[in-house]
Amino acid sequence: MSQATASGAKPRTERLPPLPPQETVYRRIRKRIHLVFFLLFVAAPFSNLMRFDIPRQRFYFAGFELWISEFAIIFFALMLLMFIIAASAIIHGRIYCSYACPQMIFSEWSQTVEAWAKRVTQQRMKASGPGAKDLAAKGLFYAVLAGASVFLAFVFTTYFVEPRDLLGRLFHFDLVTVGGITGASVTLITFLDFTLVRQKFCTSICPYGYIQGMLQDKHTLLVSYQDGPYEGRGEAKDCIECKKCVRVCEMGIDIRDSPYQIECVHCGDCIDACEDVLRKLGKPGLIHYTWGEIPKAANAQEPWYRRWGFRDAKRVVILLILAFYLTGLGLALSLRRPVLVEINPDRSIMFKVLDDGRIANLIRLKLANRTGLATQVHLWVEGLAGADLALPANPIVLQPGETFERTVELRAPFAPDGQDVHHIRILAQANGARKADAEELTFITPLKRK
Ligand code: SF4
Ligand code: SF4
Repeated sequence: MSQATASGAKPRTERLPPLPPQETVYRRIRKRIHLVFFLLFVAAPFSNLMRFDIPRQRFYFAGFELWISEFAIIFFALMLLMFIIAASAIIHGRIYCSYACPQMIFSEWSQTVEAWAKRVTQQRMKASGPGAKDLAAKGLFYAVLAGASVFLAFVFTTYFVEPRDLLGRLFHFDLVTVGGITGASVTLITFLDFTLVRQKFCTSICPYGYIQGMLQDKHTLLVSYQDGPYEGRGEAKDCIECKKCVRVCEMGIDIRDSPYQIECVHCGDCIDACEDVLRKLGKPGLIHYTWGEIPKAANAQEPWYRRWGFRDAKRVVILLILAFYLTGLGLALSLRRPVLVEINPDRSIMFKVLDDGRIANLIRLKLANRTGLATQVHLWVEGLAGADLALPANPIVLQPGETFERTVELRAPFAPDGQDVHHIRILAQANGARKADAEELTFITPLKRK
């Protein structure tokens, strides 16, 4: 460690044996997490984990096909997703940006491809001049990026358009319909984004960084440079000014200036860089993940819940709200009926007498198959002898996503019981449903036969 001498002479650097390489390499961890989120990003629309189908007005969540009319479930699902991102910003800072955001994942991937293209052309075109190599490297990079942009734009668009429909448009080079034009535009934007914009998006366009700045508090996870009183700050500095931490930073900042720079996405690359340099000189790195500006050593001695970020009542409230949204969503999903049944009386006429002497009331019927499989719905009437519904078929066959909506006659023979109001139930049961949906209604008849 550097020591200032009493005479004020230049401090002597003590030579220490090198430390073993750091156990936690954040870049390695980050790349593994990137792979997981990339697979999730690709799989989510195809497995209906999450997808908005705009043309069909459906929201797919956790394998459920939700209709736009199922507002409660969509509300809880969207609130849960938004709250998870906001809670993560309060507790973990911009960890989402550097570890999970598709923009960051593909920006870093495009930089890797660019470096790979340069390497390949250097090795394969040894006899060529620098201009030709440069041109070939750019051509190779743009060709790979063009292919990748088509794929990424396709995946992105499947979040809003049914994947098979989109694939058909892609194979037919559809540049005429709205879907085709959208796909082509997204491809072009993706290509320009990952060749020209990349991480500049995070500091200039994306609002999340600014929102994060507003959400963070004194306990939020930070990447902090700690050449401080607890680790040698003050008279004796351990930083050797190698600036490796600055060179590796893709956001172009110097973490030593402040842990609160808006550009910092908390990726941890500067932590790895500093550990790499200083460990060879026998010292631990000077940059750490910390909860607020608390020194790393102080963090390590705290109980597990504080080390996991639960450092005040606000965090407990966040957990409770998260549990509330999760419970609400779970409840709404468990109460959901795969086949929607709505039965209502149509009182535009009270009753009518049919040619055969039977009495008819009008019933508005709506059946909607909210599953991905065809189903049959059987309907019957209870409480009135001889009553039946004038349906085109019973059971009614519904294809996946199909809605049957019609006003039908509920017919019954005249009952000479002196009553003009009969309390009845109409029941509807879909294939495989444990219970029938029952609707209690009144059937109105004349008091006397005409
Ligand atoms: S990598 Fe570490 S030692 Fe080098 S300049 Fe950055 S903080 Fe100082
Ligand atoms: S300062 Fe460090 S943690 Fe922040 S973006 Fe740069 S390399 Fe990543």
